[in-house]
Amino acid sequence: MSNPADLVFTLRNNFNSGNTRPYEFRLKQLQGLCKLLDDQEKELTDAILKDLRKPRFEALLYEVKYTKNEVLNMIYNLKEWMKPTKPSKPLPFLMDEVLIHSEPYGVTLIVGAWNYPIMLVLIPLAGAIAAGNVAVIKPSEVAPHTAELLQELIPKYLDQEFYKVYCGGIPETTSLLSQRFDYIFYTGNCQVGKIIHAAAAKHLTPVTLEMGGKCPVFIDQTADVEMVARRVLFGRLLNAGQSCIAPDYILCDKLTEQKFVSAAKKIIKEWYGENAKDSPCYGRIINERHFNRIIKLLEGAKIAIGGSHDINDLYIEPTIVTDVTPTHPLMQEEIFGPILPIFIVDNASSAIDFINKREKPLALYLFSTSKTTHALFLEYTSSGNMLINDTLMHFSCDTIPFGGVGNSGMGGYHGKYTFDTFSHPKGTNCSVFQIIKKLDKVGELINILRVPPYTDQKLNLINMFTMKLPPIPGLKHLSTLVVFSVGMFASLILNRGYNYWGAHKDA
Ligand code: NAD
Repeated sequence: MSNPADLVFTLRNNFNSGNTRPYEFRLKQLQGLCKLLDDQEKELTDAILKDLRKPRFEALLYEVKYTKNEVLNMIYNLKEWMKPTKPSKPLPFLMDEVLIHSEPYGVTLIVGAWNYPIMLVLIPLAGAIAAGNVAVIKPSEVAPHTAELLQELIPKYLDQEFYKVYCGGIPETTSLLSQRFDYIFYTGNCQVGKIIHAAAAKHLTPVTLEMGGKCPVFIDQTADVEMVARRVLFGRLLNAGQSCIAPDYILCDKLTEQKFVSAAKKIIKEWYGENAKDSPCYGRIINERHFNRIIKLLEGAKIAIGGSHDINDLYIEPTIVTDVTPTHPLMQEEIFGPILPIFIVDNASSAIDFINKREKPLALYLFSTSKTTHALFLEYTSSGNMLINDTLMHFSCDTIPFGGVGNSGMGGYHGKYTFDTFSHPKGTNCSVFQIIKKLDKVGELINILRVPPYTDQKLNLINMFTMKLPPIPGLKHLSTLVVFSVGMFASLILNRGYNYWGAHKDA
């Protein structure tokens, strides 16, 4: 493995060759990525199984198939996405060609986390490719089997000149971060997010930070608690609770808590049998460090369901904790394990107050049939995403950006947002007057306004030309007509001004 300085130097030269820009090249690489996901499905799910004991169903659905769908979406829409878009034009630019081009940043760095070790690097990689960049991919060392497999497979399916996998832990990531990248896409915890952000700031490199935090759930009395319990437990227990958008704690009243706990007992048994440890549908904690961290959070907790654990098997039973206080360790950090504390609040306002006293969550979940309550949460809370009457599912709605705000992250991706994330939106403005030679004089006639000698007359005309008009609802063409008339009028006055200036120029 070459050192990071050589790696970035080579990649930058290769990017400068321009080879990653044509549509055909990008398409071929995305097809290669798709083929990797097809051909290596078993190897990939086996590696995830070794790293996380993730059930094959979960590994296939939420990692391999999900990633493949994102790549397919890019393949199908790439040509369209690459086209420059035409924004509306202010009056002074009516005759110009005004466009927004999606320009590749250049050398990008993708730093992945261990909990969805395939998806979290391959979706950003697909975005980097689609947008015409080159990339260094740094999978998480905490999921070593998957990291090694990606290092072996990616060069077989993608052009090695432009996409490099760089494996390693903190020292390797640190030395990578000392290099100048043109874009950094990081997924992981917030503390490391700050390190990444600080390293990027040294080179003024733009970043996307996909981080986590505590995702709250509020349940009011209008919700069907049996349905709520299914949906909340699905979110909490998937991947043994190790999902960034897993519901982290519940806020509800005492009656709802009681109903939730009794429904949850039934549901956990229905899904995993008498002993979740024996279930092939239940995952494990990634390693001993995280296992010990999670178990420590349970100290002094009142366990309503579950609580058993086995370090030799990295197993923690689905666990629900009641009578939680705001100062309990479970309420201090992201749990990232199969434990769900319930904190009692009187109503929606108290829940909002509780949420707003903490860092902005990556996802906020609300269970209520009341539109007033929906509006209240929408208006008075801030979170990366908000999902009403379900958990996690917004992740796969690729027409909305997925990402955090504040401590939970910056930037978003999925669907076209991934392409946009890896593209600099370069606005261009081409003066038609210079292209159509006969219009040269007309162009210069207008330009006279902005050059010395400065006069009040010129200032007034510029103001008139550039003044924003309120939109006339339903009468788009009328406002264009008004604008056109103003333009004509201004030109007439301008013509006089030009004659005047022309006459005095030689004087
Ligand atoms: P991790 O330990 O795999 O770390 C993430 C990456 O950061 C790794 O590639 C690692 O090499 C690098 N890293 C770790 N320490 C570093 C350091 N000191 N300096 C430089 N680089 C360093 O993953 P993690 O942070 O334990 O991941 C879990 C966290 O990620 C949770 O907070 C979770 O909510 C969040 N997450 C967010 C998303 C999202 O899409 N928003 C997805 C998954 C996980």
